[in-house]
Amino acid sequence: MTDRENLLNLTPDDAEARLAAVMSELGQPSYRVGQVLRRLWQLPVRSFDEITELPAALRAELDARFTLPRLTLATSQLSSDGTRKFLFRLADGEAIETVAIPEGNRVTLCISSQAGCALRCAFCATGAMGFSRNLEVHEIAGQVREMRLLDEPVNVTNIVFMGMGEPLMNWKAVSPTLTLLNDPRALGIGARHITISTVGVLPGIVALGERPEQFRLALSIHAPTDELRADLMPINTKYPLAEVIAAAKVFDRRVTFEYVMLGGVNDGAEHARALAQLARDCGAFVNLIPLHPGGSQGFHPTPANEIARFARLIRERGVEVAIRKSRGMDIAAACGQLRVERMGRRAPRAPQQHGDVQVA
Ligand code: SAH
Repeated sequence: MTDRENLLNLTPDDAEARLAAVMSELGQPSYRVGQVLRRLWQLPVRSFDEITELPAALRAELDARFTLPRLTLATSQLSSDGTRKFLFRLADGEAIETVAIPEGNRVTLCISSQAGCALRCAFCATGAMGFSRNLEVHEIAGQVREMRLLDEPVNVTNIVFMGMGEPLMNWKAVSPTLTLLNDPRALGIGARHITISTVGVLPGIVALGERPEQFRLALSIHAPTDELRADLMPINTKYPLAEVIAAAKVFDRRVTFEYVMLGGVNDGAEHARALAQLARDCGAFVNLIPLHPGGSQGFHPTPANEIARFARLIRERGVEVAIRKSRGMDIAAACGQLRVERMGRRAPRAPQQHGDVQVA
């Protein structure tokens, strides 16, 4: 059984080729290939047995050769604002988070690319837990697949790689995952609706830029000087701010700067001016992110009126800026926070601070 091949780790081209070979070996008509392919991602099934359009004997043959691994839903929590947070358990016991954020007729899914994270950004809950391992292709794209398998399926329209982990430090799995997310034979989400967020892993930015699809790039800037950025983000010694900005300039699509507002740390007028200058240099859009207090380890959120003032200073300098709405505040829906709660790193919040808590 152990040598069965995981069909969900393959790109559509590779899965198609493998299935074509097996169908031909079994003397099956070639249209069976498309029938199975559709059931991997588009209209996913829990097991081969659910592909009822295939003869039962063929389902059994496929099951003997291939696997369709699931992610196990450990818990989910629903925020009063409609944001839903999922904790998935992986085959080896690791846990990862996925957050579904509805907005009008869109649903953005915030997905994880690693279990834990090695980067240790000072304000981030995932950073505090350290790195466990890279996720495999099926574990990243599987987070979207699982949304289609819920009792009340969630129709994901947008993807952001803003869950746990640094996607560009797992490019080997993230690149084929992007193919699965985008390919109409798999999840069929438009490239412009898929955003990769990074601290600025330079080789990864180059690799992303070389892909022909219009995937979006968001850069976690968080400080406009090397000195401050290195304090907040240890990775700045390896990938300094100036080099990240240079990479953004040559990236052939417009980039977004992410800037988490840390009270008294990076939210002064001088920071706004310097940030606006950097954004102008590379034509970036600036997204100001209110600090999610859950993972913040001694940091304090900047008050809303001061965030608005900070935004004005940037806008006055001709740079487009938005203040991101903080979602799922009552369910600790920021990077790493649900896993931290479940694994007991800090005391769980009082139950009344959660929305509806559902245990699967
Ligand atoms: N490693 C990638 C993607 C994961 S984090 C990156 O750093 O870009 C996604 C975003 O959430 C990053 O901008 C990160 O800095 C931010 N973030 C982490 N902890 C946060 C918190 N407590 N409040 C608000 N944003 C946070």
